[in-house]
Amino acid sequence: MATVTLKNVYKYYEKNEIPAVADFNLEIKDKEFVVFVGPSGCGKSTTLRMIAGLEEITAGEIYIGSRKVNEVEPKDRDIAMVFQNYALYPHMTVYNNMAFGLKMGKFPYPKMGPDGKQVIGIDERKVRTLQGQVNRMEKERNRLAIIQSQDELAEMDKNINELQMELRKAAATPVPLFDMKHMPKAEIDKRVKDAAQILGITEYLGRKPKALSGGQRQRVAIGRAIVRNPKVFLMDEPLSNLDAKLRNTMRGEILLLRKKINTTFIYVTHDQIEAMTLGDRIVIMRDGFIQQVGTPQEVFDDPTNLFVAGFIGTPQMNFIDSRLVKLSNGKYAAEVYGKNIVLSDEKSKMLADHKVPEIPLVFGIRPEHITLCKADDPIAHKAKVDVSEMMGSEIYIHATPDFAGAQDIVVRAPTINLSPAERKNIVDGGDIYFKMDEKASHLFDKADEVNIFHKLDKHFGPVAPVAPATPAAPVAPKAEVKANQDVKKDEKK
Ligand code: ADP
Ligand code: MG
Repeated sequence: MATVTLKNVYKYYEKNEIPAVADFNLEIKDKEFVVFVGPSGCGKSTTLRMIAGLEEITAGEIYIGSRKVNEVEPKDRDIAMVFQNYALYPHMTVYNNMAFGLKMGKFPYPKMGPDGKQVIGIDERKVRTLQGQVNRMEKERNRLAIIQSQDELAEMDKNINELQMELRKAAATPVPLFDMKHMPKAEIDKRVKDAAQILGITEYLGRKPKALSGGQRQRVAIGRAIVRNPKVFLMDEPLSNLDAKLRNTMRGEILLLRKKINTTFIYVTHDQIEAMTLGDRIVIMRDGFIQQVGTPQEVFDDPTNLFVAGFIGTPQMNFIDSRLVKLSNGKYAAEVYGKNIVLSDEKSKMLADHKVPEIPLVFGIRPEHITLCKADDPIAHKAKVDVSEMMGSEIYIHATPDFAGAQDIVVRAPTINLSPAERKNIVDGGDIYFKMDEKASHLFDKADEVNIFHKLDKHFGPVAPVAPATPAAPVAPKAEVKANQDVKKDEKK
């Protein structure tokens, strides 16, 4: 049971100029289930491996609980990891596959004195380990002294100092002592059997891996991690080697597993559906950078940029070239296919408060938020159906709007609302009429692809403070002046 905290974590692989992971900041709560999701190569595995200690971090800090683990060996971090390419020992039974790590390793047991109480004293093992770390870091510092910048050296010195302080404390503070011992057979047996029970593989304990299905083998791999009773459970694409149907079943099982072993989970996947269904919160990554962190509902409802908007949700959100316009009544609208979609009072006010100019937009709307309507609806757009995909309860319509330069869009329409004639018209590639709900729209600045409501303060400047009753010093806050200049620049463009 532990929190996991990453502060300004970077990873540069040797020879690479671009970081694999950049400025990663995240606080994972105790017992939270967090999913890292993003396309292949975006840095998910690297981040997970840094948490596990399998990969050195280039800069930043990682904490498990309140303990900084930058220099802690993987085996001492109290974590367990399940990989995509798990390898079971083919010649061992399921039981022995799960027991193997426990039989081989040594674990801390209270050191008992003749009086039957736990011995208190200086933890020599910890002192030795810390001393080794300090020595190693000092050597590294001296080796790099000629090529590192002053800042980098100062950072290294800071780390060395921290460790020396920890070392002095450990050498001076008596604590309850533990001996590293092999785990008693009975305890191993109990752990293996409990894990097998949780995973529903009790009856296969005597089998060899080759006599198991893919899903059962995956369960054994998870079992090997469960028996260690980790504080943090790390899983790197554990289901991606399974076929689609089995993946669905196992996804359900991971949800159950999470209920049964109530601990902190960090789960990596490239599959947004897995991320949405499993995560308490999901972390969407791209090119080493976090794009957005939030609950599945938050990132679905309010994506922070075009990338997140396109990544989450199937079929993908439609993106339409658009423009922000100010109406004569003071409201704002998004002009889409030559017609204005008037924004709510609340959104208009936010934009007006920040003096947002009329800028080019990308208008985003999900296929399920476009509705079919009658031709005479005043806000209807006309489109010609290119193809349609019948899904049973819904039909996905790919259509090209009747507007110069329009790209095709996808509409997800419930079939129950369609008459047989309307369905036939769609299937035959006829014309449809549709409208788009302002409430379901997402507005992105075309220039930088960021959700305009997410950057009001940063880009368009803070809301002007209400004028004080008594005249104040005639100095405008710097940020505001700067922001107003930015807006003027935008207006000129
Ligand atoms: P993901 O798990 O999201 O697919 P990774 O964390 O494996 O991504 O990789 C992130 C980036 O780091 C990629 O550009 C990848 O090529 C690079 N990378 C990963 N491992 C290494 C390595 N051992 N050496 C050099 N580059 C690596
Ligand atoms: Mg990976």
